[in-house]
Amino acid sequence: MPETHHSKVLIIGSGTAGYTAGIYASRANLKPILVRGIQPGGQLTITTDVENYPGFAEAVQGPWLMEQMEAQAKNVGTAMFEDTIVEADLGQRPFLAVGDSGDTYTGDTLIIATGASARWLGLESEQKFSGYGVSACATCDGFFFRGKPVAVIGGGNTAVEEALFLTNFASKVTLVHRRDELRAEKILQDRLFKNDKIEPLWDNVLDEVVGTEDPPGVTGIRTRNVNTAEVSELAVDGVFIAIGHTPNSGIFEGQLGMDENGYILTEPGTVRTSVDGVFATGDVQDHIYRQAVTAAGTGCMGALDAERFLAEQGG
Ligand code: FAD
Ligand code: NAP
Repeated sequence: MPETHHSKVLIIGSGTAGYTAGIYASRANLKPILVRGIQPGGQLTITTDVENYPGFAEAVQGPWLMEQMEAQAKNVGTAMFEDTIVEADLGQRPFLAVGDSGDTYTGDTLIIATGASARWLGLESEQKFSGYGVSACATCDGFFFRGKPVAVIGGGNTAVEEALFLTNFASKVTLVHRRDELRAEKILQDRLFKNDKIEPLWDNVLDEVVGTEDPPGVTGIRTRNVNTAEVSELAVDGVFIAIGHTPNSGIFEGQLGMDENGYILTEPGTVRTSVDGVFATGDVQDHIYRQAVTAAGTGCMGALDAERFLAEQGG
């Protein structure tokens, strides 16, 4: 039987933003409910070393960090639900969210912490070989390419980290980037350029993933030089797409102010959205910083703003 769960603070998402909001709202005695979604723990669960989250002198593992955050949120009283919100109505009070389990969640306030998901290039061949050599997660799939050549597409932090991680397994990693300059931060670039196993392929875009039909598997990529239009083929067994992320804001489309890329708009210096009582935190509203610590910071802001909003409403 579908059930309805009500809370003063409903949190959607279980990345660093959602868990931090849970910790703060729980400690304000607001008994928050948190719906975890399809990726419990969020994006940091698909990475290995995290070196820039403050509080740890040595690198910590992303999945471990998120387990700790989850336990911390639970210990202070956040109620967690294994469900994914498929529909939301922000036009009614309390706010309403429907899970794919059939359960309904209502909140006097709503903290959106749905983060962002890996983007794909949109090539037919990329989709065809997805799971058969094409991946968006080196931590998840790198192991399958022991002693084999692979390619990584992209030039940001994710692409460089994926390339470095893949050198633990692959015989060679080609980093295919559409420009001749990386967007990744300096420290990561230094590591990349020092690594003999990694070779950048500048000014090139992926046109096609080439492979076998039966059994399905990748044998190479076809790339195109954006300056000369020259087409090259490279033999690889794996292709890792690391070209950024799309905010998970689709369920709120038409109900909240958003920019042209789907990032939820917040009032500058706050996490307040275009609907009173609805707060957007973490990567779903941040196209600039997109770090675990900034997501945690805005999660904290969301809980404090929700508390203030409830106090103003006399709740
Ligand atoms: P996310 O972590 O994206 O979590 C979103 C959550 O929302 C998930 O739990 C998901 O299940 C849930 N959700 C989504 N839709 C729904 C729905 N409809 N219903 C219910 N739940 C939903 N940052 C750093 O600071 N340091 C690093 O070293 C670092 N390494 C990274 C490595 C990789 C490979 C990647 C991809 C990112 C890395 N980042 C790093 C960035 C960091 O992971 C993000 O900035 C951070 O996770 C954002 O947190 P978030 O809470 O906003 O959202
Ligand atoms: P990103 O910074 O947006 O970089 C995306 C990269 O993919 C860019 O180099 C971009 O090229 C390229 N790209 C985008 N669309 C493309 C297309 N259609 N074809 C070919 N190339 C394309 O994304 P990200 O690397 O995933 O990082 C996201 C956020 O998470 C960032 O804020 C990052 O700092 C953070 N993060 C942090 C860490 C860390 O702190 N260690 C690790 C991972 C991620 P251009 O450069 O030409 O635009």
